[in-house]
Amino acid sequence: MTTTEETERKCTNCHGPLRNLGVRHLHVGDDAGVLGVFKESDEDLLPVELHGCVACGKLDLYLPHLRKKS
Ligand SMILES: [Zn+2]
Repeated sequence: MTTTEETERKCTNCHGPLRNLGVRHLHVGDDAGVLGVFKESDEDLLPVELHGCVACGKLDLYLPHLRKKS
């Protein structure tokens, strides 16, 4: 079982096939490092679905909860 899969998405750069690289969590909080405190909460983590182009290496981000899955 592989974590990558062909998707229906196309690269916005070269229109090549994108591979689903899985969901990661990005820090989006702007207060990290302020006052020397590294605050971490669910609100500061944005789940994003990574898609990488196998042809040119472009990386696209998508919101996984918006993806329709049947
Ligand atoms: Zn590409």
